[in-house]
Amino acid sequence: MGTDRSKQYLSIGGKPILRHTIEAFQRLSVKPSIAVVIHPEAEAEYWGAVAGLKDLERPVHGGNRRQDSVRLGLEHLVPLRPDFVLIHDAARPFSSTEMITRILDALQISQAVIPALPVTDSLKRGKEKRILGHVDRENLFRAQTPQGFHFQSILNAHRNWATGPEMTDDAAIAQADGIEVTLVEGSEENFKVTTREDLQRAAKQFAWEYRTGNGFDVHKLVPGEHVWLCGVKIPHERTLEGHSDADVALHALTDALLGSIGAGDIGTHFPPSEEEWKGAASWRFLDHAAKLIISKGGKITHVDVTLICEKPKIGPHRRAMIERLSSILAIAQDRISIKATTTEKLGFTGRGEGIAAQATATIALPYHD
Ligand code: MG
Repeated sequence: MGTDRSKQYLSIGGKPILRHTIEAFQRLSVKPSIAVVIHPEAEAEYWGAVAGLKDLERPVHGGNRRQDSVRLGLEHLVPLRPDFVLIHDAARPFSSTEMITRILDALQISQAVIPALPVTDSLKRGKEKRILGHVDRENLFRAQTPQGFHFQSILNAHRNWATGPEMTDDAAIAQADGIEVTLVEGSEENFKVTTREDLQRAAKQFAWEYRTGNGFDVHKLVPGEHVWLCGVKIPHERTLEGHSDADVALHALTDALLGSIGAGDIGTHFPPSEEEWKGAASWRFLDHAAKLIISKGGKITHVDVTLICEKPKIGPHRRAMIERLSSILAIAQDRISIKATTTEKLGFTGRGEGIAAQATATIALPYHD
């Protein structure tokens, strides 16, 4: 993975571009060894960008020219004795699994494979704003990365070319060394972040959309010794009746989270008719809803729960409830609000016949059209 500019350390969608790029390869089922070639003075930026990422090779210090950096990266991989290598620009964070798989598949039969797109705009040769001629675009392609090679072939090519003239990509070095290069379909989304305009386009690709969902639930109070509210067991002279542990607050909040992604309600996911959920701890429902959001690349921004009852008093338990929700949802405590109100002794909650809860959840999802 080559790094020729410092664009890869800029942040888009809350993460450095380099991190997005590495993650695109870590999503592959083949789990490649990844070595990043960095500028010798970019150690601090590099370690900041990859903090917490697992299974990375040590970074390799690059050379003066792009091809020197790539050669040093390849030499670093020699002890791993790989069959194939993909050489990639760190500033291309949008390489899809499908496209990388196309390249890997083609490497089974070709020594060298690059993703490319046909040129569709008309091409002109010009100088100082004057057109000098027209270039036939037929058979012209725009080369992208990752470029895939049989490891030993491209290593030899780079070694042979170490003192050769500058080349703009590894396919050119491969071809100069007599290796036939095959084209597979690239992707318009797999663009290189080079200009300020690219950066804006990339940021848009990682824009977030914010959504809210709401939930409401009621459970009946019957004779008993405790109630579960927001995952906390509270001693009480009554208990809430229900199929599960009847934690009315967690049920309302689970519905709010499910509502934010249009994923039905708690009954869709955990039918009361199923024996499995009898007496179940309701944090499991909430955990399930939170994981659905995370599986969509989303994050929970804020939750707000209101309990409606005369008794028990919620105030003394609020801190424990916030801690519990923070742990179930894996979000900071300042993203959680728990409130309580009475209905001035009116209605079923006022008469102590049941407890009601309502909840609002705000989430962020990766934006797409
Ligand atoms: Mg319920």
